[in-house]
Amino acid sequence: MSRNEALRLRREAAVPRGVGTSHAGVFAARALNAEIWDVEGRRYIDFASGIAVTNTGHNHPEVVAAVRAQLDQFSHVCFQVNGYEPYVALAEQLNARAPGATPKKTIFLTTGAEAVENSVKIARAYTGRSGVIAFTGGFHGRTMMAMALTGKVAPYKLGFGPFPGDVWHIPFPAPYLGVSEADSLAALDRLFKADVEPARVAAIMLEPVQGEGGFYPVTASFMMALRTICDTHGILLIVDEIQSGFARTGKLFAAEHFGVEPDLMPIAKSLAGGFPLSAVVGKAHIMDAPAPGGLGGTYGGSPIGCAAGLAVLDIIDREGLCARADVIGAHMVARLQRIAQRDAGVGEVRTLGAMTAIELVQHGDPSVADPQRTAALVAAAREAGLILLSCGVRGNVIRFLAPLTIPMDHLDEGLDILDAALEKTAS
Ligand code: PMP
Repeated sequence: MSRNEALRLRREAAVPRGVGTSHAGVFAARALNAEIWDVEGRRYIDFASGIAVTNTGHNHPEVVAAVRAQLDQFSHVCFQVNGYEPYVALAEQLNARAPGATPKKTIFLTTGAEAVENSVKIARAYTGRSGVIAFTGGFHGRTMMAMALTGKVAPYKLGFGPFPGDVWHIPFPAPYLGVSEADSLAALDRLFKADVEPARVAAIMLEPVQGEGGFYPVTASFMMALRTICDTHGILLIVDEIQSGFARTGKLFAAEHFGVEPDLMPIAKSLAGGFPLSAVVGKAHIMDAPAPGGLGGTYGGSPIGCAAGLAVLDIIDREGLCARADVIGAHMVARLQRIAQRDAGVGEVRTLGAMTAIELVQHGDPSVADPQRTAALVAAAREAGLILLSCGVRGNVIRFLAPLTIPMDHLDEGLDILDAALEKTAS
């Protein structure tokens, strides 16, 4: 039996099935930049980045050096017991770089879901209101409130209720799925008339590009409309940049594309280049609403994570990763569009920076999703040495999240494998 297979069997016996693993038969042994080697020495090009975590590549030498240097000093004292400079320094950096001119403050946590939870706590403390409006197809995490906000039942919410109350969903504008901005805004208006008065709503939360939902970007006009509605009713706008942040879309934060200043911004994933760190960055007067002791967590803002985060921001600047995201995205879209011309199953190619996706449908019909081919494509690509991730409310989107540091020849190698896998799975 192969080592991968032996590990897969041990995993099946030891780990609950509730943790899904896209590539359950590939056990990682080593990874560097955009390459992963498994326990049998097989090499893969990585178009997943551990779900948008290693925008700066696996084991970027500067991230590794920063973490090693911090380890030599200390790994944990808890920010609620003793302060330490990396926490403060990274907060300063994020406050200065977050979109908009209003002074900011930052709290660090550990996971994306925790950042989402904390952004709701802060919004409720500031507004004195309870309601939160989110979007269908949105994904905000797996803790109770984050799950309540997530706009997809299977598999995320199945059997886990009841959820915290005062959460509502309206349709996310995705023209390819037949939902226009006007539909979305009309649904919000209906919600205010039928279910909850705006004066009871603390926040509207959305992803500027839906991630798990299928890589659908909003438009500037939609974000501005939401901003105006929020301002009219004293509602906070929470922009979840957990998957879209850190240069992925060609800007440090995707919100910068839309000319709107979020009130609160949960961030995580590529913030610390592979180390568990998340944060809420927000307008200082809002962030200061919760009383001392109301926010925190034993590991929140781990010194290791903060040291890594400081290195990540340096790398993004020095290696020009925002501009590189645009180059990668444009290169991918050019190739994917050529494929779409010959393959009617590639219904749409879309990108914002390097947050790139293809949507697989039958015979070019957007209303007939092709999740079977999507799964077959992921498997065929893996066989040929490429790690892909699917997503989408209908399970028919392939999202491309290669590290933004990927060398061009590795990007092309991955695209060649993808091209062949698309051909192999064409009907
Ligand atoms: N929000 C978004 C937009 C995400 O993509 C994710 C993770 N995929 C989360 C929140 C939750 O993050 P975590 O898994 O670190 O809790």
